[in-house]
Amino acid sequence: MRITARVISLLSILFLVACGGGDGNVEDGNAKESNVSSDYIAEKTVFAMDTVMSLRAYGPNGEKALESAESEILLLDQKLRRGSESSEIYAVNAKGSAEVSEDTAELISAALDIGESTGGAFDISIAPVMDLWGFYTGEFYVPSEAELSDSLAKVDYRNVSVNGKTVSVTNGAQIDLGGIAKGYLSSQIIDIMKKNGVASSIVSLGGNIQTLGTKPDGSSWKVGIQDPDNLDGYIGVLSISDMAAVTSGGYQRFFEQDGAVYHHIIDPVGGSPAHSGLKSVTVVSADGTLADGLSTALYVMGLNKGTEYWRSHDGFDVVFVTDDNKILITKGLADMFEGRSEALIIE
Ligand code: AMP
Ligand code: MG
Repeated sequence: MRITARVISLLSILFLVACGGGDGNVEDGNAKESNVSSDYIAEKTVFAMDTVMSLRAYGPNGEKALESAESEILLLDQKLRRGSESSEIYAVNAKGSAEVSEDTAELISAALDIGESTGGAFDISIAPVMDLWGFYTGEFYVPSEAELSDSLAKVDYRNVSVNGKTVSVTNGAQIDLGGIAKGYLSSQIIDIMKKNGVASSIVSLGGNIQTLGTKPDGSSWKVGIQDPDNLDGYIGVLSISDMAAVTSGGYQRFFEQDGAVYHHIIDPVGGSPAHSGLKSVTVVSADGTLADGLSTALYVMGLNKGTEYWRSHDGFDVVFVTDDNKILITKGLADMFEGRSEALIIE
């Protein structure tokens, strides 16, 4: 039996942020920003939420903004960390009900809304199933049907409730915010940038990108979408400003056993890694929390249901990469996406 796990390499995370150049082409992983020399660039790298976070802010207030952003990262990481006895999520899961900070309550409410609107494809009570597969400890395990149905009996986002700042779980539900926390954090960081007078910034939280304004020269940020089959390559480039771009894919975290691959995005129907015909889903939205929650949900839902969902909901666009390497983009991205191969436009 061979068990391996892999996470996105630091190189590719930096690559996602580093796409610069004024000509719209991403040339290599070390592309440089072509900004005006008088613009001061402040940069910071923080390790939190088990990932590398790279922050960049332009202009005179950048350093100060990044200091505040770092504090916010460490604070939220502490509050949301499931395994840490002093975290708010730990308290809710252990006691069944606990008072949390406003941030945490707001995040859980947003996550429950996405759970509701996606018919439970996004479900933050997935923790017992993640645990069963060993994704939490890294001691991976392929469960039996009986074990899966025991754990699944505890999974239902409707067993999580928020009342003011009190969060409660019932019927064995346990909260795991891994599918949405980084998106919420990136939107909080962008708010901090704004409050500090920064007008131009890009943050990458383990590949979850959020941008503020444009680059100082007025051009859009270039964000490469990772190639699921070649993590140092990309399937296309998004040109975005004031937007988040978040990718979910089974290739990002998985283990192999007896020739089969088991990844970390679970279909709450059945409790196994989702096999919906997609290699990755990238959601682009001004709302970082929504982008993160929906990237996970649409990956579970697959192309057809995902497309239907996009048609009936506002505020985001999507890049789908299918198992047979087709790229499909929703029409809002028609002028914002340049693919390495032709992309079909979803109307
Ligand atoms: P992401 O990389 O944003 O797609 O999030 C994947 C993470 O979300 C996993 O590592 C789990 O912590 C959590 N997760 C897995 N499946 C689901 C699901 N169906 N709904 C919500 N969260 C999930
Ligand atoms: Mg997500």
